[in-house]
Parts: sequence; C-alpha cells; structure tokens
Amino acid sequence: MTVPPDSAKAWSVAEFFAQALAIEIEASERYELLADQMDVHNNREIAAIFRKMAAIEAHHRDVIEKRAGKARVDGKPAKFSWIGPSGPEAIDFEDVHYLMTPHQALQLARINEERAARYFEEIAATAQDPDVRAFAREMADDERRHVVWVNEWIAKFGAEERPAEDPDPPIYQE
Ligand code: ZN
Repeated sequence: MTVPPDSAKAWSVAEFFAQALAIEIEASERYELLADQMDVHNNREIAAIFRKMAAIEAHHRDVIEKRAGKARVDGKPAKFSWIGPSGPEAIDFEDVHYLMTPHQALQLARINEERAARYFEEIAATAQDPDVRAFAREMADDERRHVVWVNEWIAKFGAEERPAEDPDPPIYQE
C-alpha cells in the first residue's frame, strides 16, 4: 500500500496506530536485513547506520504498539511492505541478498522513508479526527527527518561506488 486508502480519512486513533505500527515493524525488520547485507559486503560503517535505524524504528514500534491495542484496519490487520526502485510490489529480500551494494541499500532506504513520510503527510492533511491528524503529523516529521539522514549518507558514502570503467562495454544494453 503506497498511499492511504480512502477509508483512512475516517480512521480512529486506534486504527491509525494499527497502520503506523505496521509501517514501523516493516521498517525495523528491513533495516535489520539491510544491515546483514552490508555485513556481507564487509561495510561496517553502513551496517552500523542501518542497525541504528532499525533500533530507532523499533523504538517507534514499541511506543505505537502500546497505543494501538488490537485495532485493525478495514477488518484486516494493517499491512505495509517496502518496495524496490522498479515497482510497487514488495521486495523479495532473499533474492537481492547477495546483489545489493551499499549504494543500492541506501537508495532503497530513501525510497521507503520517503514513502512513509508521504503516507503520514497525506493522513495528517486529510484525516477527520484532529488527534489522528496530530499524531500523523508527528510521524510524518520523524520520517521526513529519516529522509534527510539517508540523503546525507548517500552524499557521504554514495560516491565511492561508481562502477569501474568497463574495458569492453556491451554494444546493446537492455
Ligand atoms: Zn523511518
């Protein structure tokens, strides 16, 4: 789910927290996986960054979990999956495990932090319940801050990953 459903406008605080919880659980788990992948690349610096992000999102998760109770959204448990650069479908992280470079991992984090920020911003702008709007604004601000951090890391760590000159470039690329 990339944007909030129409029904989000009428969400109660409990329903909103159920959705927020799903987003934070997903983020925390994905950051743990990305950290593991950076260990595979022996990139300790970025692995440490991702572990710190996993802890930050896990802290969010714990705070929200207390407030969400057993709320469900649209009769189903809330769902929110990270996506890849090429499409809205959830990434199969098992498949990309060995292929993902630090640069790609940071791009993936940026795409999904951006999505989470936009998601909460949309709710902050459209929810009928003023408490939901206020909570969504808090979450949106946090996620916006994460986008800024990831952009800083991309600026700091992104450059060293330009692919080496290919001595025998393919004529056709698809
Ligand atoms: Zn985040």
